Amino acid sequence: MARVPLVAGNWKMNKTVGEGVTLVKELMPRVDGMENVEVAVCPPATALQAVGRALAGSEIALGAQDVFWQESGAFTGLLSPRMLLDVGCTYAIIGHSERRGRFGKPDESLSADAARVFGDTDASVNLKVKAALKHDLVPIVCVGEILPEREDGRTDEIVDGQLRAGLAGFTAEEVAGIVIAYEPVWAIGTGRACDAAEANRVCGLIRSVIGRMFADETAAALRVQYGGSVSPDNAHELISQPEIDGGLVGGASLDACKFSQIVTAASVIAKQMRYS
Ligand code: PEP
Repeated sequence: MARVPLVAGNWKMNKTVGEGVTLVKELMPRVDGMENVEVAVCPPATALQAVGRALAGSEIALGAQDVFWQESGAFTGLLSPRMLLDVGCTYAIIGHSERRGRFGKPDESLSADAARVFGDTDASVNLKVKAALKHDLVPIVCVGEILPEREDGRTDEIVDGQLRAGLAGFTAEEVAGIVIAYEPVWAIGTGRACDAAEANRVCGLIRSVIGRMFADETAAALRVQYGGSVSPDNAHELISQPEIDGGLVGGASLDACKFSQIVTAASVIAKQMRYS
């Protein structure tokens, strides 16, 4: 069965409420009605509710950029799965490298302590995935190596380890429907996307690890996105790779024209694959 690609926009810490609503109002007429592709936007927490309302009647889904695993309580600044469902979220990004503190490059504007401030680990990713699934939020679980790991030839080991620890203890039924995003950290926000054939290879590796952890059917149905400097210029080459099922898009998702061009590429490719 053909997998429907998912193109999700991670807005990160960008867009006020008004700017976010304007962005989706520009986006909806461009992408609603496009076939063979699913689209999601992940605004910052402050804009979730307003953007969710603006999306009413649209096919674009709403996602959060993170989720905490507790139901409620003394957890200043955090959001529970129920809170995200309450404002209309379908998806939650979990374990993004910027939350794992795996920036992969020195950020001189941050002290060493600040750079580790979010501190997601494979163990917290596991708890977050568990909490999301319990509440029927679809996790988009991010994995990927930093540059020194790639240069040391450790990409496969790192990705394998993140998957095995992040998804430990789940059943095949539980993980059916989750999305994995392969995001080489060195490619995020750098304008230097991973070579398409290499991204395809790692996405294939992810699928085979999932097959070994769970079941072949789980792996065959799993959507594996690529993320890292996806743009209208490289989207077609990346998303047309057989193991890549759409993209997790940062910078280019802040522009309705660029993001819709990426969605269009995914839609056209999926249609070609469906009928080829
Ligand atoms: C991301 O934030 O997940 C991402 C891939 O960012 P960018 O597209 O800007 O590299």
